[in-house]
Amino acid sequence: MPSRFELPTRFGRAGFGGCYAPETLMTPLLELESAFVAAINDPAFQRELTEQLRDFVGRPTALTPAPRLAKAVGLEHLYLKREDQCHTGAHKINNAIAQVLLAKRMGKYEVIAETGAGQHGVATAAACARLGLPCTVYMGRTDMERQAPNVARMRMFGATVEAVTSGQGTLKEAVNAALRAWAARCDRAHYVLGSALGPHPFPTIVRSFQTVIGNEARAQIIERRGALPDAVIACVGGGSNSSGLIAPFLDDALRRVVVEAGGHGTALGEHAARVGGGRIGVLHGCRTLLLQDDAGHTAETASVSAGLDYPALGPEVAAWADEGRVDVWRASDDEALAAALELCSLEGILPALESSHALARLRDLARDGARTVLLGLSGRGDKDLSTYRSRLEL
Ligand SMILES: *Cc1c(COP(=O)(O)O)cnc(C)c1O
Repeated sequence: MPSRFELPTRFGRAGFGGCYAPETLMTPLLELESAFVAAINDPAFQRELTEQLRDFVGRPTALTPAPRLAKAVGLEHLYLKREDQCHTGAHKINNAIAQVLLAKRMGKYEVIAETGAGQHGVATAAACARLGLPCTVYMGRTDMERQAPNVARMRMFGATVEAVTSGQGTLKEAVNAALRAWAARCDRAHYVLGSALGPHPFPTIVRSFQTVIGNEARAQIIERRGALPDAVIACVGGGSNSSGLIAPFLDDALRRVVVEAGGHGTALGEHAARVGGGRIGVLHGCRTLLLQDDAGHTAETASVSAGLDYPALGPEVAAWADEGRVDVWRASDDEALAAALELCSLEGILPALESSHALARLRDLARDGARTVLLGLSGRGDKDLSTYRSRLEL
């Protein structure tokens, strides 16, 4: 077993990321990093992952021109990278299937995951069913009530859903419970973290498995247009879909934008906009931009989209923002809802509320001079129908 990490543990000049984990987790984190490095350098693992992405996830996902929406927002060309077409409805399965393959390769007997809205839990439960590993998903009690259909989906895939009753009974508490469970069972269990967050090596592992989005999109848009777009844009919760889309475009001369949840107000507790609203702090093992009160206590957040409703920004995206490599914008609940309706009515595509935050800023890109835009459509909106119905009075 190595005694030091091989890969860089920090991002950027601000030193975001790191591994702020209890001693009991250091051995499994070191073991995970060395297994990850070995796997991605092993052609047999890459071949197996590529096959699962094709046969189970449904990759490559389409790059869909959206000419009617482009015209409405003042762009010449708009291309949607369709992660809503992935099996289970969002990009989360790209990471889940890859990490469950990694767990099998490591000889683990079971998988642990956490979930907030349930999307990552559903993706991990499906991947575990496919690959034949038992799965336990930790989920806050409040979230289990709000997201009952996803609890049923996970159970149908054979997963055990453990209710977490501490605190507010939401994602933050579920992550704590999953980390504790992993510390107790790390010799036999792998913890599949769902976003580009947590202690090293998780942010690097998740971003690397999600980079399939940007690699495909880059090749597709070059094939289609013979040129790169003027801008790429995606929504950002923890940062997995946005960093996966943007990573292959980091050295290109184009604009890169991520959009946070502006919620329903600008006061602490009314949004999940960590850039501007947040300060540097540590949560769930990594140092990053964090919404917190004066005492450093993690603040409450609010967003109409559960997937963006998290107090910490992924450390790699935070470093890109700090260095001016991405611009961080926000969209309010109402703007996201209106943008969802616009995509539905003009293009016949029902987007997730999370993805709608990126759609809501297209007019700003056009106003700033972009003519061709690539947008990461992270998921489909079927899971959000009850919110759309009540908020849009359908
Ligand atoms: C979870 C989720 C997000 C936010 O997570 P990231 O890690 O920031 O990508 C965005 N869109 C959808 C559809 C999601 O399910």
